[in-house]
Amino acid sequence: MSSSAIATQLKSCPIFIDGKARLSRGEVLIQHNPATGEPVAEIPLCTSDEVSAAIASAQAAFPAWSATPVLNRCRVLFHLHTLMEKHADDLMLLIVEENGKTREEARGSFQRGLECVEFASGVSSLMMGETVEHVGTDVDGWSTRHALGVCVGITPFNFPLMVPLWMFPVAIACGNTFVLKPSERVPRSSVRLLELIYEAGLPAGVMNLVHGTKQVVDQLLTDPRVKAVSFVGSSPVAKYIYTTAAANGKRVQALGGAKNHSVVMPDADMKHSANTIMSSSFGCAGERCVATSVVVAVGDAADPLLSALKKAADEMKVGDGSEHGTVMGPIINSEAKKRILNYIDVGQQEGAKLARDGRNDTCCDSEGYFVGPTIFDNVKPSMRIAREEIFGPVLSLVRAKDLGEAIDIVNGSEYGNASSIFTKSGSTAREFSAKVQTGMVGINVGVPAPVAIFPFAGWKGSFFGDLHALGKDGVKFYTETRVVTCRW
Ligand code: NAD
Repeated sequence: MSSSAIATQLKSCPIFIDGKARLSRGEVLIQHNPATGEPVAEIPLCTSDEVSAAIASAQAAFPAWSATPVLNRCRVLFHLHTLMEKHADDLMLLIVEENGKTREEARGSFQRGLECVEFASGVSSLMMGETVEHVGTDVDGWSTRHALGVCVGITPFNFPLMVPLWMFPVAIACGNTFVLKPSERVPRSSVRLLELIYEAGLPAGVMNLVHGTKQVVDQLLTDPRVKAVSFVGSSPVAKYIYTTAAANGKRVQALGGAKNHSVVMPDADMKHSANTIMSSSFGCAGERCVATSVVVAVGDAADPLLSALKKAADEMKVGDGSEHGTVMGPIINSEAKKRILNYIDVGQQEGAKLARDGRNDTCCDSEGYFVGPTIFDNVKPSMRIAREEIFGPVLSLVRAKDLGEAIDIVNGSEYGNASSIFTKSGSTAREFSAKVQTGMVGINVGVPAPVAIFPFAGWKGSFFGDLHALGKDGVKFYTETRVVTCRW
């Protein structure tokens, strides 16, 4: 079949401006199903005029939307929630097709996305200001929270539905209008969200959607009409977003990459620890910013842990995420597969012991982008595989003599997203969570991603900005405080 014949069967991916879906006039990229390698959709790269029109649409909608009573704004999100539940199966299948997640993983991320909508639906009480009577003689003081204006969201490929939902529900509930630029690798989940939020009754122009890569992002970062930028993606890009948008006078929250450690103490329940770490490391094919990519085994924990991890990895069913029973799906694309395979070579060259080689798994022979679960033993903290974000199903096991050494290893990372400890000792857990330099900590939990009422709180090289996404931080990020001092 000729490429033009294939192209005619591909799904299109509209943009949204002024509340209406339309096709972009820009060049297109082809999106492939990661499990099969088949082309599935055409993704446009928006023109500069289209990006400008999306910002203008958001700016025009801002005065009326910010003056809409907060409870009415939140009501739209209640309706969105209802519609998301109604279309849950389709949304989850779309996540599977775009990203390669398994059905179970898609369900989990869908649920986490819904929780963000639930949190934003209750934003009215978090928008309350503060009042103090008699700040002077016959003088009262109070503060109120106000929307900023046009906010922008730029999102990564690994959670096509959930990460956009970290941003726009809170932003629009607070009275802002929004331009979303999802990952060009998984933009169709965002298209569905826009369709649903307009069906939920959102006034035209409050949410806008553009597609593209660096060129589109650069335009959004420098346009003076944009007041705030939320970003989630890799650290080099997060740093670039932070510096560029801040230099252009915008408020920025830029969540970056990660290298997360799980410390396993000798007193830990080894079976629970191994199973939990397996699912943290290899769930979503290791493409999670809170995935464990380094396990630090303390003292005698190392050998039993390694054999339990290898056994659990051998038993994992790796394949097309749309098939029932699949435990680990493909990675996102051939480029990512190449990068991950290169890291396995690097680990061997650095002298780490390849305890389980995922390159030999049968899944790797298929047309999809698969790498089986891979485990390195005897990894030294200085090795690249222990320091750099691989973002794939490759787990490094580092051996430490005691808790102090394990904490030093965790804190030696340039990243500071998440870390976990597995132990039966309360005092060990307490010492770990007090001393470890990561913004999210798990105690006998492998994926310590906070629920939406808390901020998603990466530290160090995993975050650029001041106020994190979600929780009270999210509300503060999307609002400005006014203080009134009043003598009546
Ligand atoms: P990425 O940085 O390649 O892309 C993220 C977004 O930035 C996309 O929308 C992309 O189009 C845009 N972009 C890419 N290169 C750009 C450039 N040079 N200039 C301007 N914009 C650019 O990230 P990804 O590969 O899509 O996602 C995976 C990364 O995201 C991992 O590093 C992962 O750890 C991170 N992540 C972090 C969190 C968190 O909460 N900290 C959550 C999810 C993912």
